[in-house]
Amino acid sequence: MTDKELIELAKKAGNNSYSPYSHFKVGAALLAKDGRVFCGCNVENVSFGAANCAERTAVFTAIAQGCREFEKIAVSGMREGEEYQKTMPCGICRQVLSEFCTPSFEVITEKDNELSKTTLAELLPFSFKSF
Ligand SMILES: [Zn+2]
Repeated sequence: MTDKELIELAKKAGNNSYSPYSHFKVGAALLAKDGRVFCGCNVENVSFGAANCAERTAVFTAIAQGCREFEKIAVSGMREGEEYQKTMPCGICRQVLSEFCTPSFEVITEKDNELSKTTLAELLPFSFKSF
């Protein structure tokens, strides 16, 4: 699975975004070490705190299906009617990713057909761990 293929899956997942409040559609595609891909989109709610991000939707879907080891995630984001823009996981999603992923776990996004890649260690240094 190439990074480009993974970002295309993220974009496809973002098409299912439920975002009537922010009008910002996010999709995520999480590649597991066993080769499976788990996708997610943001799901908003009139009670804003009940919203869930695309990245966490993907992670929770994977966990629910018995998968806990991951290689990388691609994230796509776009305001409705506009072009895709670089979109990184929010702080809560970074913390959730850190529960299951190593510091070298890759996070990929895209703008103007140009991929950019970083690691969880760069996004969440000194992350909270209880072990
Ligand atoms: Zn998030």
